[in-house]
Amino acid sequence: MAVTPLLIGMPEMRQSSLVVVANRLPINDNVALDGACEWRRSPGGLVSALHPLLRHTPATWVGWAGGTGPAPTLPDVDGVRMHTVPLSSEDLRDHYEGFANATLWPIYHDAVEQPEHHRRWWDAYQRVNQRFAEATAQVAEQGAVVWVQDYHLQLVPGLLRALRPDLRIGFFLHVPFPPPELFMQLPRRAELLHGMLGADLVGFQRAQAAHNFAQLVTKVLGLPATDRRIAVEDRIVRIGAFPVSIDTAEMAALADRPEVADRARRLRHDLGSPEQVILSVDRMDYTKGIEQRLKAYSELLEGGHVKVRDTVLVQVAVPSRERVGQYQILRDRVEREVGRINGEFGRVGEPAIHYLTQPFDRTELAALYRIADVMAVTPLRDGMNLVAKEYVAARVDDAGALLLSEFAGAAAELSQAYLVNPHDLEGLKQGLLAALRAEPADVRARMQAMRAYLREHDIRAWARSYLSTLDQSGLLLTRLGG
Ligand code: UDP
Repeated sequence: MAVTPLLIGMPEMRQSSLVVVANRLPINDNVALDGACEWRRSPGGLVSALHPLLRHTPATWVGWAGGTGPAPTLPDVDGVRMHTVPLSSEDLRDHYEGFANATLWPIYHDAVEQPEHHRRWWDAYQRVNQRFAEATAQVAEQGAVVWVQDYHLQLVPGLLRALRPDLRIGFFLHVPFPPPELFMQLPRRAELLHGMLGADLVGFQRAQAAHNFAQLVTKVLGLPATDRRIAVEDRIVRIGAFPVSIDTAEMAALADRPEVADRARRLRHDLGSPEQVILSVDRMDYTKGIEQRLKAYSELLEGGHVKVRDTVLVQVAVPSRERVGQYQILRDRVEREVGRINGEFGRVGEPAIHYLTQPFDRTELAALYRIADVMAVTPLRDGMNLVAKEYVAARVDDAGALLLSEFAGAAAELSQAYLVNPHDLEGLKQGLLAALRAEPADVRARMQAMRAYLREHDIRAWARSYLSTLDQSGLLLTRLGG
C-alpha cells in the first residue's frame, strides 16, 4: 500500500488500481437544489464504457455527489467505490458556474458568447482542483492508473503528479480545445497547459484539438511538441484524438423493443400524424445553435417551403446551468421566438413547433428518435454530440436523415450525414430541405454506412483505445477482455 504524507494520521482508506476522476459521480441524483445539474447521461455513458474494467479491478470513482453540504459517504455502485469530494456554495458559484462554465466553456466553444474573467473564479478553480487531486492521491494504490475527465479538472494531472509521481495519469477533454488565438486570451493559460501536461496521455475528441494543444505548448511554454508527443522535462507526454462514442448495441436494442415501437406510433399520432417530423434534442446552451435553427425553420415556413399541416418540428431543449446569466437570457430568447413562430404559423391544434423543456428518459428518447424523419443536430460548436450518434444507433430500420453541423465532433466520423454550416442561414435552410426531400434510397444508404461505423466504434472501443495507449503495460486491458 502506498503511504503518502496525506495518509498519515488519516483513517484507513481503501485504495484502487484504477481511479476515474470526474466532476460528478456516476449516480442518479435528480436536479440538485443548487441548480447545478447537468444531464447525467454522459457520465452514465462513461460508466457503461468502463464497467467491464471497473468490475474486475478494485476501482474508485472520485467526484462530487451534488449538494453543498458535507460530502456524503456512499455505498459502492456495481462494485465501484464512490469517493465523494465536497463542494461549498462558493465553490459551486466560482469554480463550476464561474471558471468552468463562464470562462472556459465559452472560450472552448469559439467564444460564441463572451467569456468572463474574474480572479476569484481562478482561485476557486485552483482550490477545487487541489481538493480533487488530494482525494485521488488518497485512494490510488501504488502505480495505479488514474483517468481524469474534462475541463472542470484541467489542473488535476499536474497537482496529482506532484503528490504521487508513481501514478500513470490520463486526461481526457470531452469538449473542444480551441485554436491558439482564443486560448491565448486566458490570463492563466500557462498554468492550465502545465496542469494538463501532468498527464502521461492527453486525449481530445478531434485531431485538430491535439494540434491546437501542441501549438500552444510550444508557443506559451516553449516546449518541443508534435501532434503526438511533447517533451516535458524528463518525460514524454503523448497526445491524440480519441473520439468518444455511445453504447451502440444498447441503444439499438432499446429502439428495437416492441414497447418503444408502440410508443413511437402513439407519439406520431399525438403529433397529428404529420408526413414528416423534424426532431432536435439539445441541452439549452448557446453552443447548440437553437436560435439559428429556429430562424431557418421560420423562414422555410414563411417562404411556403414547409407547411405546418405536413411537417412538425419537435424541439426538446432541457434547461441547464440556470444560474449562469447567459443561459437565462438564452432561454428567454428561445421561448420568445418559439412563441412568435407558433403564433404566426401555427393553427388551432397544429403548432408549428412542439417545444419541450422536460428531460426525457432513454426509452422516450429512443421512441422520439424512431419517429424523426429528419434529426437536426446543428450546434455552432460541440465536442462530440452524443445525440447524433444515438439517433443513428436507434434507426434499426435504416431510415431517417441526420442533418449534422460541420462543427460537431461527430461530423469527423459521420461523414455520410447531411452536413451543414449552422452559421450560414441559407445553407441551413437548404440542408433542412435537402434532408426533408431526400430520396429514401439515399437516406437508407447513408444510414446503413453510419450504423456500420458506430457498431465498430462504440464506447467500449473508445475506452479500450484510450486505455491501451495510456497503460502500455497492458495489464488493465487484459482485464477488459481484449
Ligand atoms: N439526454 C437525455 N434526456 C434528454 C435529452 C438528452 O438523457 O431529455 C441525453 C442524450 O441522450 C445524450 C446526452 O443527454 O446522451 C447529451 O449529450 P450531448 O453530447 O449530445 O450534449 P451535451 O449535453 O453533453 O453537451
